[in-house]
Order: sequence, then C-alpha cells, then structure tokens
Amino acid sequence: MHLETRAIHAGQEPDPATGAITAPIHPSTTFERDADGGFSRGFQYTRYGNPNRNAFEKCVSSLEGGAGAAAFGSGMAAIMSVLQTLQPGDHVVAPDDLYFGVRHLQQKLFRRWGLQITTVDLTRPDQVRAAMTPATRLLWSESPSNPLVKVCDVQMLADIAHESGAQLCVDNTWATPVLQRPFELGADLVVHSATKYLSGHSDVLAGVVVTHRLDETFERLVDIQSEGGAVPSPFDCWLIQRGLQTLPCRVRTQCAGAAQIAQALAANRQVEAVFYPGLADDPGHEIASRQMADYGAMLSFCVRGGEAGAMRAAGGLELIRRATSLGGTHSLIEHRASIEGPDTMAPPGLLRLSVGLEHPDDLIADLQQALG
Ligand SMILES: *Cc1c(COP(=O)(O)O)cnc(C)c1O
Repeated sequence: MHLETRAIHAGQEPDPATGAITAPIHPSTTFERDADGGFSRGFQYTRYGNPNRNAFEKCVSSLEGGAGAAAFGSGMAAIMSVLQTLQPGDHVVAPDDLYFGVRHLQQKLFRRWGLQITTVDLTRPDQVRAAMTPATRLLWSESPSNPLVKVCDVQMLADIAHESGAQLCVDNTWATPVLQRPFELGADLVVHSATKYLSGHSDVLAGVVVTHRLDETFERLVDIQSEGGAVPSPFDCWLIQRGLQTLPCRVRTQCAGAAQIAQALAANRQVEAVFYPGLADDPGHEIASRQMADYGAMLSFCVRGGEAGAMRAAGGLELIRRATSLGGTHSLIEHRASIEGPDTMAPPGLLRLSVGLEHPDDLIADLQQALG
C-alpha cells in the first residue's frame, strides 16, 4: 500500500476491546499474567514493550520499509544506542558537518570507550574511501545535513561501507521517509529524531532506530532499549502516532513553502547565499533530484554583515519564531553558530530556517521586512 495509507493504518487496528478507531493510551507499566503464568497477550512490563510503543515502532518501520524498529526517549538516545552496538576499538566514519549533538556524544562519552571516529566530507567519495579502515564497522551519514543542507549520495555511501564490511546508518530526520527511503538505496540502519517531523508539532521528545534486517544488530538494539531503559512514554508514542498520520501531507506542504521561500531569499540583495538543494545551482541539486521525492523543508541562508547582520534580521522577524529545533507546524529560525559553539561549521552570518505550515506568502513577507 501507499505511504499515505500506511501512515494511517500500519500498526493500528481498531481497539479489540472497544472498537475505538483512535488507539487508547496505555499508561499501565505492568500487564496481567495468565493463570498458567504466561503472557499470552504479549505484554509484561512497559520497559520491554507497550502497545503504544509497539504501534509507533510498527508504523515507522513500515514507512521506512524496514524489518524492525526500536523507539527511544530522544533522538540522541536512539543515536547513542547505535554507537553502543559497537565495541571498544571499533572505528566509525562520519561527516565533517556531523549534527553537533552527535559530535558532543563522541567527545564527551565515546572517546573514553575507545571508539574511534574519523570525520570526512561525505560528498567526496575519495575522502570517504580513504577514511575506511579494517576496523571500520559503521559509516554514519546525514542527508540533507545540518546546517549547510548538503546532500550526499546514499547509494554510493552504502557501496563504500559494504566494500569495507561496514554498515551504513542514515540519520533520516531531515528528509523523512516521505522524501527519502535509505533502505532502498542500500542503507542498513536508519535513525530519526522523532522530535522533529515524525511527531511534527514540537511537543514530543523521542527517537527511533529502524533496521533493514532482523539481524544481530537489531537484537543488540532491542537489548539496549529494554535493558538500558531509555524508552519513550506511552503518551509520547501515542502523540507521535497521531502526528505520523499527517506526515506525508505536512511534509509535502512544507516542501512547497520552502521552495518558494528559497527563491525569494535568493533574489534578496541582503542575502549572500542560500543553501537549499531545490535551487537549480545548488551543489546537491542533482543528487537530491535522483534520491529524494522533493527537496525538503529545511534551508539555510547567509545574511550580509556576518553575525551582526544575521542577528539583526532574526531580531526583526515578527511571525517566524527564533527557536531551535525543526519539523513542527511553526516556522523556526536559528543562528546556528551561536548555539553550536566554537567547533561549529556554520558561517557566522548563517540563519537556518525550518519552514512550517503557515502560508508561504506570509513567511516571505516577514523575511523581506526583517531583511530590510
Ligand atoms: C534534533 C536532531 C537530533 C537529536 O534528536 P533529539 O530528539 O533532540 O535528541 C539528531 N539528528 C538530527 C538530524 C536532528 O535534527
């Protein structure tokens, strides 16, 4: 069935007890045993499994075309679980514009575990190949990337990873399965910050890992999830499930708005550069046209006058909210260099825009007046 249909039906049958079409929320932490001590109804304790969490995992696994999924209490907990499947001495190759949270995770936690990470420009196959070693277990990628909205060739990365006996993990948060399905391009693992588009309303913190096969990695992830215990609450899973139903139409509308805004910004004389793969002269345009169904709803742009110019423009906005995060209904703008700190790849004049569901004409008018 089509993605739109699966977003509404996968993992969601009417409640057998009441016929409720919308799933009930199951806050119960514990479930009754049968008279013989078994658990014929499939649940025993919520850390191991919960009806709302199972529904979310089934739905997102179906949308990605995966075999199984494990949900976590944040995107970072999901990413950490992928790194925890590795062992000391293992090597990871990751992008030089790695999401800053993952860079901090590596520096603050995994360096002490002896996990080696090499960062390279993932748009350069020669660099990626050169970074792979016999100890490389994982190639990490994010496409489009944060905050420069760079696009990497997922199929090419999958080939390089597999030639070296490593797995490819794609952080698909920015693209969503509506625009990009990494398993069809050869990826082994997909992670999401469900905090963003999957839930879609800036009211849940959660993450998920989806695997292409029910393999040893999947078993380890499930152990890390249920024994490590960084699980999302039933209510949070229910909220994400509610959001997932409108994911395809939200993302498509947001992409259409982003395309119009990117054009308007590219024509504005206060803007030095626009990073959006939907623009024909963007370096990622060709790969994105092949690999994605649309160009996404995230864009970045550099304002004349560096940091001061960017801060002045952001400060003058009246409709677009100055806040971190992305993927919700409200358009959000952010000066990335100041939130990412000294090791940022973001130019000082860069503003990152998450295009929400407001009318694009209103968003463009707000940007034009703020840019002056
Ligand atoms: C937000 C984000 C994360 C982290 O997710 P949290 O839910 O904030 O823990 C990871 N990767 C990308 C691409 C993100 O945008």
